[in-house]
Amino acid sequence: MHSFKDFEFHPLIQESIDAMGFQKPTPVQSEAIPLIMQGKDLIACAQTGTGKTAAFLLPVLQKIVKNNDFEGTKLLVIVPTRELAMQIDQHLQGFSYFIPVSSVAVYGGGDGDTWEQQKSAIAAGVNMIIATPGRLISLISLEYLRAENLDTLVLDEADRMLDMGFYDDIIKIIKTLPIERQTLMFSATMPPKIRLLAKKILSDPAEITISLAKPAEGVLQGAYLVYDEQKQALIMDLLHDKPDLKSILVFSATKKNVKALYRQLKDDGFTCGAIHSDLAQSERVAVLNDFKNRKFQILVATDIVSRGIDIDSIDIVINYDVPADAEDYVHRVGRTARAKQTGVALTFINQKEVRSFRSIERLIGNEIHKLPLPSHIGKGPEYTERPAFRPGKKKKKKGKNPAKKR
Ligand code: ADP
Ligand code: MG
Repeated sequence: MHSFKDFEFHPLIQESIDAMGFQKPTPVQSEAIPLIMQGKDLIACAQTGTGKTAAFLLPVLQKIVKNNDFEGTKLLVIVPTRELAMQIDQHLQGFSYFIPVSSVAVYGGGDGDTWEQQKSAIAAGVNMIIATPGRLISLISLEYLRAENLDTLVLDEADRMLDMGFYDDIIKIIKTLPIERQTLMFSATMPPKIRLLAKKILSDPAEITISLAKPAEGVLQGAYLVYDEQKQALIMDLLHDKPDLKSILVFSATKKNVKALYRQLKDDGFTCGAIHSDLAQSERVAVLNDFKNRKFQILVATDIVSRGIDIDSIDIVINYDVPADAEDYVHRVGRTARAKQTGVALTFINQKEVRSFRSIERLIGNEIHKLPLPSHIGKGPEYTERPAFRPGKKKKKKGKNPAKKR
């Protein structure tokens, strides 16, 4: 597809696409939109930042406008996090700017007013609901959801939802929906559990795979081998070295590190913000918005913001530790170079993380360049996995690191 015009969207939709500044569909949009318009069920696997949101929102809007049917709830999008629910709702408001559809983002953790607004919108038969599973289940058990007009169900970031333990909730929700419906599933990765879920809830689906689990082209990736004691000196060195970078995102596995780094950066005179699980939802949103609006240069975060959240043109992502899940690495690196810009992703690897980093390199099918440490920081560890407990009987370790509070 060379142009959005080829889809022959309703003029009011095309107008909003133009207003958003989209000129050419992305690959996942080119493939998914015609299939969705044909009414097919779909499973689409594409990395973060490839434009999946528009790939499902545009054809659903087209269906509503074409049928001129604005009666009741037509679309339900289930997403893993509140941040993502809000973000999709914002995209939706952009695409439906010239169309009288109503929508609501439904998620937990807000105040009483938010809850009342969500309840009344849903009871009134709002056209489009974007919801996290937990909160939606509450609304369903209170019998607020009226799904009889629903004709499209979308599961976004399905892999993430299963990782977060939402399988049972998803199944429970789907049982309350009409059987006659179109179901679309989006996922950044395609592990076996996603295939099983797809088999269960999709009917004769079309399948699209766009460059499985590879960071977007245009991201320069590099890594430093460092001892933990060297990390702080290294990050300060990297940041002081690059004064013209406007947006820097630093991820760490623990909120303890996030808080410590934030304090250090503040003390050194950087403008920065931090996001971790101790913050209330409203505080997280405020920090994220300030970062998007370039009110400060550096955001330090645990991985609660690593997936799905749409922040444009981050110049550099620094992984202060190797992400425990190889897939998380791909998601994080996906924060840069969104929609074909260029970006840089740097990862700090300590001795214990060599093994995890190798599995990332296997997943993306590439060896990531190991950069030399600045000389004043000293020598880092080698890129070798530590010898197994009994050499000669080396057992391949399976399973993930124990879950941490993020
Ligand atoms: P994904 O869900 O695949 O991670 P998003 O749908 O959030 O990706 O889109 C990523 C970014 O790319 C967003 O800022 C979005 O506005 C932008 N985008 C999506 N499609 C296009 C397009 N066809 N042209 C230009 N920008 C686009
Ligand atoms: Mg998305």
